[in-house]
Amino acid sequence: MTGQPLAAVSFQGVTRRYGSVCAVSDVTLDISSGEFFALLGSSGSGKTTLLMLLAGFDTPTEGRVLMSGTSVSDTPPHRRRIGVVFQNYALFPHMSAAENVAYPLRMRGVARAEREARVNAALGLVNLADRWSSYPSQLSGGQQQRVALARALVFGPDLLLMDEPLGALDRRLRDQMQQELKRIQGELGITVIYVTHDQSEAMAMANRIGIMAGGRLLQVDDPETIYAAPSNHFVARFLGECSILRVTATDGGRGYEIAGVRQPLPSPATAPFDIVVRPETVSVRPGPEVVSDGAFGVPATIRDVTYLGAGWRVTLELSDGQSLLASIMRGDDGAGHLAPGKPVIARWAPASVAVLPAEGSP
Ligand code: ADP
Ligand code: MG
Repeated sequence: MTGQPLAAVSFQGVTRRYGSVCAVSDVTLDISSGEFFALLGSSGSGKTTLLMLLAGFDTPTEGRVLMSGTSVSDTPPHRRRIGVVFQNYALFPHMSAAENVAYPLRMRGVARAEREARVNAALGLVNLADRWSSYPSQLSGGQQQRVALARALVFGPDLLLMDEPLGALDRRLRDQMQQELKRIQGELGITVIYVTHDQSEAMAMANRIGIMAGGRLLQVDDPETIYAAPSNHFVARFLGECSILRVTATDGGRGYEIAGVRQPLPSPATAPFDIVVRPETVSVRPGPEVVSDGAFGVPATIRDVTYLGAGWRVTLELSDGQSLLASIMRGDDGAGHLAPGKPVIARWAPASVAVLPAEGSP
């Protein structure tokens, strides 16, 4: 029992300022070997800067970036075992697919026979074995990105960094490449850090997600935890739809009251707090006459109904004036009663509620 294994990647109090702009602000984060880690944030949140600091293309203003315990900035570029894929494929246009993929091996002085074997294996891994002689201009966007991936993997890096690699592809191709990337990561067991602004992409691919805003890392957790238990208002709103409701704490924080109705909390919270209700946990019954059974239910009026094929997105106005989103699937109870202006009873399961410190509270 001698301590933790060294993290594959460790950011320790990392800050990067450009003049007065703080692109990355005091980021501390450990990533384990074999993780598929997504950095998720909107444009300008500092994702690329953090990746560049890790790749050693840039150096922190404060703090340290370590790979397996060694400072990245102390390791010369050709000794760093890091593959990088950018959104714009950055292939050499005058080189064939095979020559592009061979490039990192040439830079490392790998002998020709081994080079050819490794290039073939890498092109096979990304299902492009038959296109080794094609030039980038003869390949589709998706194929070019596969070549870029093969080039990033060919020298057997410990770490693969990807910066919005599928951003230029259409939806269908993106879904297909997402699955392939997961397969390749599984086959190689490589650590991946994947930058994206697309929450569904991060949820679909990553073991853990780090949410960035304004250069700060706001929350790091597995996708289910971030969705079910966001740590603040920004994260709750950023990851999926939700309603954030003002409530009054009851029973010393063991429950809450909203619009005159009380419900217990899954675990006690410190007042004042808001609650997060996800639309798929809300059910809608015709009202108000059936609320007499003493069960939790908030009187509401339907304000808007949007048909989505598999169901409806319903905006409700609670009797205290707050707005609540509900996602009602075809066949759900109450699906037949959806019309703007109708009075209803809205319910959500006590266990599905997340609690946030009240916005604006100290
Ligand atoms: P993201 O990749 O999340 O879109 P970036 O890391 O590219 O965000 O940028 C974060 C912030 O740092 C932005 O405000 C951006 O304008 C600023 N920034 C990034 N690189 C530079 C630079 N070389 N010089 C000045 N400001 C920069
Ligand atoms: Mg970026």
